[in-house]
Amino acid sequence: MTFENLNIIVPILKALEQQNYSTPTPIQEQAIPIILSGKDLIGCAQTGTGKTAAFAIPILQQLAKKPAKQSKAIRSLILTPTRELAIQINDNFTSYGKHLKLKHTAIYGGVSSFHQIKVLRNGIDILIATPGRLLDLIQQGHINLSSLEIFVLDEADRMLDMGFVHDVKKIITMLPTQRQTLLFSATMPEAIQKLADNLLQNPEYVSVAPISSAAETVNQSVYFVDKKDKVKLLSDILNDKEISRSLVFTRTKHSADKLVKLLAKQGIFAAAIHGNKSQNARQKALQGFKVNQLRVLVATDIAARGIDIDELPHVINYDLPEVPETYVHRIGRTGRGGNTGTAVSFCGNEEKGDLRNIEKLIGFKLSVSTIV
Ligand code: AMP
Repeated sequence: MTFENLNIIVPILKALEQQNYSTPTPIQEQAIPIILSGKDLIGCAQTGTGKTAAFAIPILQQLAKKPAKQSKAIRSLILTPTRELAIQINDNFTSYGKHLKLKHTAIYGGVSSFHQIKVLRNGIDILIATPGRLLDLIQQGHINLSSLEIFVLDEADRMLDMGFVHDVKKIITMLPTQRQTLLFSATMPEAIQKLADNLLQNPEYVSVAPISSAAETVNQSVYFVDKKDKVKLLSDILNDKEISRSLVFTRTKHSADKLVKLLAKQGIFAAAIHGNKSQNARQKALQGFKVNQLRVLVATDIAARGIDIDELPHVINYDLPEVPETYVHRIGRTGRGGNTGTAVSFCGNEEKGDLRNIEKLIGFKLSVSTIV
């Protein structure tokens, strides 16, 4: 299967070639023809499967082929839970749409809206937004969605987890009823199914790599360690220079910050990214990590959602997540694209129940590493 077989137009094919995408990923292969046919779609896929291109490519193609009914009208809206994802999706639209004339931008909170409003005023075809900032700017009269043609609800399950359900429902009431709707979610709990029933019309379903099986190329192990000994264990592991880069997960923003300070005392330089950090600080840390200036990035789950780094070899669960699916999301950061990865988890006494739930979900017991 090639992108040509999917009837992708030449300007996009050219852009994909420049991205070195030779073959569509399974979600792209399944979703692109459905979206191009104008049907509603529910896509069960997580980050890392190529799902952004699975909706961005056919959206660009549809909008490029059809003239806008109204000038300066927003024709497609992509609603996504985090700023990092919004920025990343916007970057993807830049890459895939570089030979088209369609305009797109991302709006998100945590930064001044001045520049965002200025860009919106010039007219935007595709808007990528987080719910809070979108509602703000709609209420201030800067955004009108009445001409919307394609609506994407991205990472729907995260959206609900993060408490955006109210905002999302409010935004949905502002969309024209005549539209194409695409919903993407890594998991399909009942709440999402209900939302989908109200939101989509006769949707087609596509699904790739069920959440519980995402970890086959990842070497997973667990250390049983007292909470007070976790920092020592972490610095011992990180002192191994074989480890080029590590993404370390903590449960809370506070523990992420604390951990960065404790590691500094051990001579290990790390940076934290989480929701309380300014957008600039987050982007700086992420960029440093991406270009290998920073070896250790400490993140909370929500902040880590948007992280897309090629060849991340090492994930460390400093705290185990309470929600077992989160474990799979976390370790899905490594072992991408057929590469092997390593995921190490620290399990304190009080986390043994969490470990049991994770092992139940993934269907096997993690191998136990011992502290030497
Ligand atoms: P996503 O699931 O959208 O976060 O995409 C994960 C990664 O896969 C991103 O780095 C994309 O640039 C990359 N990607 C998406 N589609 C393809 C493809 N067809 N071939 C190669 N890489 C791809």
